[in-house]
Amino acid sequence: MSERSDSPGPQRIDLHSHTSWSDGTTSVGELYAQARTAGLDVLALTDHDTVAGWPELPAAVAANGVAAVPGIEVSAEHGHRSVHILALLVDPSPRSELAAAMAEARDARVDRARRMVELIAKDHPLRWEDVEAQVAGETTVIGRPHIADALVAAGVSADRSAAFDELLRASGPYYVPYDAPSPFETVRAIRAAGGVSVLAHPGSVTRDDELPLALLEEMIAAGLDGLEVEHREHGPNEIAGLREIAQRHDLIVTGGSDFHGTGKPNLLGENLTAPEMLARIEERATSGTRVLRP
Ligand code: AMP
Ligand code: FE
Ligand code: FE
Ligand code: ZN
Repeated sequence: MSERSDSPGPQRIDLHSHTSWSDGTTSVGELYAQARTAGLDVLALTDHDTVAGWPELPAAVAANGVAAVPGIEVSAEHGHRSVHILALLVDPSPRSELAAAMAEARDARVDRARRMVELIAKDHPLRWEDVEAQVAGETTVIGRPHIADALVAAGVSADRSAAFDELLRASGPYYVPYDAPSPFETVRAIRAAGGVSVLAHPGSVTRDDELPLALLEEMIAAGLDGLEVEHREHGPNEIAGLREIAQRHDLIVTGGSDFHGTGKPNLLGENLTAPEMLARIEERATSGTRVLRP
């Protein structure tokens, strides 16, 4: 715990990660133990559509000497496009508009997962119970990664990535969308809950055609605070383009690994956020939720 605080050099800050409360594979404690091994100073916990892991953060910070930014990766939808927005330092109250929207999205995810399993079951040996077996334990948010794990357990796919490529991709025959709030409502709800909104991996939104770039401008007009520029899904051209947009609108720029444990190849600390950007996030947040420091 002390050797790193003596060491000079910039703070290593990763603002995007998941645990088994959503579709990662580690507990919160294990996540921060791995963050320490990866040499991180600060890690944001951003499970999909839930704050279920937050109560474990104080103990994880104390045990590992890594600071925690409490966060959420909120699911939104524009047309049939899925849009993910990081809500950092937000008020976790279950009475907020944001919490109500997330509860609805979690319910919609269950129906949607059942429908996808019904479609897959016509062609492959997969039952709903197989998926349930994968989400047993602490998981509160069901997603395609759990269907992928069930397909791996049933011997249909080699691993999560293969399951997505072969069966679960959005362009595939078994994909079913689920209802989530619009990105504009989500940005406003995060602001209303005192949090800072950062569009997660914008490259997966802005890729392909021009409409999404207009979508990005509309989200900025709705109050979007930042862009996750440094992310493994972005190539050099995208990073340059996103940096230019961020500069033009004076947006916060972040970087994150999007770590999912063994569920994805992403490694903790593979993308980082500048300390001055974390300072801006802390200044911008108006909720009582603060960065937990060791
Ligand atoms: P869902 O929210 O249920 O539509 O599932 C999307 C989630 O699946 C994302 O948050 C990713 O964590 C995960 N995911 C997407 N593509 C892949 C992939 N190719 N391999 C593994 N996980 C993926
Ligand atoms: Fe995920
Ligand atoms: Fe995401
Ligand atoms: Zn993520």
